[in-house]
Amino acid sequence: MDLERPFPMGIQHFRPPHCPRPACPSRTQDGPDFRFWSRGRFHRSCDGRTVHRFYCCVCRRSFSVQTFRVDYRLQRPQLTAPIFDAFVSKVTQRQTARTLSTTRKTVRRRLLLLAKHSREFQTAVLERANSRGIIHGGFQLDEQQTFERDRRLQPVTFPVLIEAKSRFVLHVEAAMLPARGGLRKSDLARKKRLEAKYGVRVSGSREAVKRCFEELARFRNPDLLTVITTDKAPHYPGALAETMTRNVIHLRCSGRLKGLSSPLWPINFTLAMLRDGLSRLVRKTWAATKERAWLAEHAWIWIAYRNYIRGFTNWHRRISSAQRAGYVSRRFSKASFFEWRVLPIR
Ligand SMILES: [Zn+2]
Repeated sequence: MDLERPFPMGIQHFRPPHCPRPACPSRTQDGPDFRFWSRGRFHRSCDGRTVHRFYCCVCRRSFSVQTFRVDYRLQRPQLTAPIFDAFVSKVTQRQTARTLSTTRKTVRRRLLLLAKHSREFQTAVLERANSRGIIHGGFQLDEQQTFERDRRLQPVTFPVLIEAKSRFVLHVEAAMLPARGGLRKSDLARKKRLEAKYGVRVSGSREAVKRCFEELARFRNPDLLTVITTDKAPHYPGALAETMTRNVIHLRCSGRLKGLSSPLWPINFTLAMLRDGLSRLVRKTWAATKERAWLAEHAWIWIAYRNYIRGFTNWHRRISSAQRAGYVSRRFSKASFFEWRVLPIR
């Protein structure tokens, strides 16, 4: 089954590739072959669609074409597209709920669903690219600083790893940083209260950067050269040496150079795009994230947009970053990206 076009005949001529239940004996390695019957159609009132129903002859349970779709069990599937637009257009969760006449709970649930699908799709793309041995060449990493709840007391680091030529975002992480120094008396008292509630903050920067490098190590072709460019932060060489040793070069250059003259221009530009797209990263507003875990979830939706849906640049609109990197062969619309769930291959 093709990852990019799982059902090219569309929903009307859908044939289930396997039983959707992970516990079905037909899903095990030596289990019986999957057989199914058609069991008619039903009308879905939320969007007026006619849905084909099936019956698995192995586990004797019914399922429908909906089981394979991203909008499975959603009461208002028509909200997915506008909520996605809001998540990549600097709109906060609360404002999205207001403008779409829905609740913040619905927006949060949809965020988790879209982020999960984006992560699963990206993993499937990278696994396929890895099996073809095409992940190598230049990569860049840098950290964006932001905060959760309080800029001085609860700063957060947000490392981003990209493929340099295509600006394909390979991985992001969000980790805590210790409180800043030179605090006022009132801030020191608040710091103590926060430490009692959430624990003492230690820097998670090195571990987060290492996890980014681990992702690259997992998918890259170790027989071909990988060049990683970063600024001169002291913890990068150690984190890299612990994850990759063969066929890797680490270039360190000054982070002070700005604009096109800087070798780090691609990653600087990507971080600027992130700040322009993610409401949680917009500076000097009250939209900052309340929990850093949610920042990472939100970022995965932006990654799907950046890698697979948005054009590479305003001058190259018909080609996406993932296409330019050679990892996929088509550019997705938001409807086609969030149509089918990523199906496991037996
Ligand atoms: Zn079954």
